[in-house]
Amino acid sequence: MNKTAIVVGAGLGGLAAAALLGREGWKVTVLEKNDSPGGRARLWSEKGYQFDMGPSWYLMPEVFEHFFTLFGKTREQYYPLQGLDPYYRVFFAPGSPVDIGPDRGRVEELFESFEPGGAQRLRSYLEKARYKYDVAMGQFLYKEYASIFDFLNLRMLIEGTRLNVFGRLDRSVRRYFQDRRARQILEYAMVFLGTDPAQAPALYSIMSHVDLNLGVHYPSGGLQAVGAALARLAAEQGVDIQLNRDVRKIVVENGAARRVVTDGAEYGADVVVVNADYAFAETRLLDRDHQSYPARYWERRVLAPSFFVLYLGVKKRLENLVHHNLYFSEDWERHFDAIFREADWPGKPCFYVSCISKTDAGAAPRGRENLFVLVPVAPGLDDTEDVRERYAEEVIRHVEEITGEQFRDSLEVRRIFSHRDFVGDYNAYKGTALGLAHTLNQTAVFRPQFRSRKVKNLYYVGQYTHPGVGVPMVLIAAQVVSGIIQGAAG
Ligand SMILES: Cc1cc2nc3c(=O)[nH]c(=O)nc-3n(C[C@H](O)[C@H](O)[C@H](O)COP(=O)(O)OP(=O)(O)OC[C@H]3O[C@@H](n4cnc5c(N)ncnc54)[C@H](O)[C@@H]3O)c2cc1C
Repeated sequence: MNKTAIVVGAGLGGLAAAALLGREGWKVTVLEKNDSPGGRARLWSEKGYQFDMGPSWYLMPEVFEHFFTLFGKTREQYYPLQGLDPYYRVFFAPGSPVDIGPDRGRVEELFESFEPGGAQRLRSYLEKARYKYDVAMGQFLYKEYASIFDFLNLRMLIEGTRLNVFGRLDRSVRRYFQDRRARQILEYAMVFLGTDPAQAPALYSIMSHVDLNLGVHYPSGGLQAVGAALARLAAEQGVDIQLNRDVRKIVVENGAARRVVTDGAEYGADVVVVNADYAFAETRLLDRDHQSYPARYWERRVLAPSFFVLYLGVKKRLENLVHHNLYFSEDWERHFDAIFREADWPGKPCFYVSCISKTDAGAAPRGRENLFVLVPVAPGLDDTEDVRERYAEEVIRHVEEITGEQFRDSLEVRRIFSHRDFVGDYNAYKGTALGLAHTLNQTAVFRPQFRSRKVKNLYYVGQYTHPGVGVPMVLIAAQVVSGIIQGAAG
């Protein structure tokens, strides 16, 4: 067989799908607008500092292990992995942070110190989360939901209560814990999946199983190593990855995508797989008649936040930080209001800081630290030069105050990445960092589909489709979509 596939975008979802199609004998070409593969998971280096531009949490390691086995390979052949200890540090106020790590006894003591009975309740919460995770992995994630009946299947109906798909995460956590710090530790991951815990289905308590039971890992070289590994794996399957190819149009004739047009060339294909931003591709690369999801569909979606990111190279060591650090303010609902309801720059925000130089000596010059500061913010904000410069200073002052580390005068690298960069670099709809939020109405069958409804050989893969946001999720999406394409090709 020598059927051809064009993949638009070399994000992790695009690379993974390309590798899988290559393995099946397709002649695959990946067209990527940027000058390196990996999409949001790219590397940026400056003055000896190496920054993961996007993801930095390596979660659900089994998904990665499984992916490499599909090629008769092992993950170790591509990058080494180490478990982190602690997994992360949490600041609830200036000073006196707490560490969460693999020592379960200590985590239980911490929860007991938050409120009497906390240790036992944590055990019971995590047991349920483990159960939901196992069901989700076994039955819900590696699957296409083409109709509501695929979603409301027998298992879901019988186990609806146990899986708690239709309840709200924040309410379900509150049934176990009154202490706000305990609740924040169990809910924070939703924000990184782009969703207000008050809008997320309780099913997502699986995220607590993901971090507290399965643990947080670090691939040597950072998350960009995953992109590099997938690019290598794809090349080994004969995939041709072409960089600096900005796709401008998908030409449809007789109901099928026939050609993909870039700024300088045209490519014919039997199938087209879009990994680029779904909203952008539907509304900008296709004519109106061929759009399954036109502009008004996207206007009505709940978007995931954008992120205000700082890449900082610091000329000294910062003793108060570990590899992953989080700050949860006392009134984090105010921050969620600023993201999901009022669309304003949040004052004194919750934040995430990674300092991978704590684990990886190659991430910063000797005696220095590499900081990645992330504040979730509303999509669509006006981030003029002036606004973001001022906000950067505000955020740096705030991080200094909470962590007790002074580093403003020791910066030798300082780069801001916000809405307009997400638009410029990735064509991200309204500058969203993560695409669509994981509300119940945007879960499984309610997410945009893998197959175009209007164009018979056009497919989509990435964080907008099921199962959704995050590196392991887009690897799963790639497996589902490549199976669908193989099936359709007979
Ligand atoms: C700052 C940040 C932190 C994150 N942290 C984590 C984390 O810690 N852990 C985790 O698991 N997930 C994290 N995520 C989410 C995760 O990175 C994404 O869900 C995932 O990488 C998305 O992959 P993708 O393949 O869907 O898309 P993308 O990475 O967006 O790739 C799409 C590709 O398409 C290309 N493209 C767009 N338009 C065109 C065009 N017209 N022509 C050609 N190419 C085009 C883009 O340049 C891009 O390379 C984070 C995301 C961000 C932004």
